[in-house]
Amino acid sequence: MSNNQNANLLPCPYCGSTDIRTDPIMFCDDDGEHAGVECMNCDAIARHERWNQRQQSTAVPYAISEFIAKKKTHLEHYTEQYSYAEPDTNAVVWDSEFHQQYEEVISEFIADLESVIASAQQGGDA
Ligand SMILES: [Zn+2]
Repeated sequence: MSNNQNANLLPCPYCGSTDIRTDPIMFCDDDGEHAGVECMNCDAIARHERWNQRQQSTAVPYAISEFIAKKKTHLEHYTEQYSYAEPDTNAVVWDSEFHQQYEEVISEFIADLESVIASAQQGGDA
């Protein structure tokens, strides 16, 4: 395994460490023995050619869903802080147009991001 191949490897999909090694790790599965990659920080191990795919299929979606969850929570607090429900109609009334626009922009961003993820996941499963 050359250093050049090592340089193309993404950080560990589980802990994000870049302290990973390839040589002389072997990874065994149903197809036999393969060149493997091991994380020296958390001991994760995978086939060399799948290491970067795992990065994309686990860690990245997890980080994005965490990000979205945080944004949603933030938006709930924001809405509580800068708006109130009209007693008669229960309609949301904002303290200012700025606050309402901010909420709309972030909501739209989250919805767009979720739809991009959903379509990417459908493409990935097909
Ligand atoms: Zn790791």
